[in-house]
Amino acid sequence: MIIGSHVGMKAPEYVLGSVKEALSYGANALMLYTGAPQNTKRKALDELFIDEAKKCMEENGLSMDNLIVHAPYIINPANSVKPEVAELAVEFLEKEIERSYAIGAKYIVLHPGSYTTTDLETGIETIISQLNKIQSIPDNIVICLETMAGKGSEVGFSFSHLARIMDGLNHKENYGVCLDTCHIHDAGYDMNDFDSVLDEFDKVIGLDRLHVVHLNDSKNVRGARKDRHENIGRGAIGFDALYKVATNKRIENVPKILETPYINGNAPYKYEIEMLKSGIYDDSKLKELESKD
Ligand code: FE
Ligand code: FE
Ligand code: ZN
Repeated sequence: MIIGSHVGMKAPEYVLGSVKEALSYGANALMLYTGAPQNTKRKALDELFIDEAKKCMEENGLSMDNLIVHAPYIINPANSVKPEVAELAVEFLEKEIERSYAIGAKYIVLHPGSYTTTDLETGIETIISQLNKIQSIPDNIVICLETMAGKGSEVGFSFSHLARIMDGLNHKENYGVCLDTCHIHDAGYDMNDFDSVLDEFDKVIGLDRLHVVHLNDSKNVRGARKDRHENIGRGAIGFDALYKVATNKRIENVPKILETPYINGNAPYKYEIEMLKSGIYDDSKLKELESKD
């Protein structure tokens, strides 16, 4: 099972610290933001302990394919109302591609964005035209458009949106998909029948284009279009359905990344990973975090 979580990327050890954090959870995959997810301020590459991080991954048997970058969620390539917002998205993505390449990450997860006051069609067209402005993408970088919950004016709450975006892109080979279980459940897909969801994904997009899974429970009922993540087993999707995703043979080689909420300031990932590896649901470890300071 290839499983990990999103991890921090901060002083003093930056990417090396991210790898160490992942190892402390018993993870063999990790996802990081190259800086604060809510802004576009970034530190110089030579200050990030990249070589040390790579060495540490190698020593611990972690494949570089399982180190994933998440682009900041404030960038919005679907915004045609304020073109400067979409342009900033492209400008920033170009830098993010360079940074991911330097870090050695292959996959960059990107939210398709929100169409704000226009409509879905305009949103999809805007994303295509903005992404097509990106000058060059190295061969081994794949930008993974994430499935969204459909909150507000988000684009990407149906597999068909992502298929249409990718269809319009010039460098198709540099794009793929990240499937978020909380988001697709909130968008209305039935997580109790995940094999049918994968059939649908395969028909509309192609399973070979699925490179990352975000494994999250949801605080809301199916179809709620809210996007509030919940700890594994504590939400509306439930442990059994998420365990089936984690162990599904068809996506065995796709890294599963937890983005579940901290409990009382404590990361839940070590325990969630243990549960998913063992197949045994045990909420008592998460409960302990509630009273821990
Ligand atoms: Fe995301
Ligand atoms: Fe996600
Ligand atoms: Zn989310």
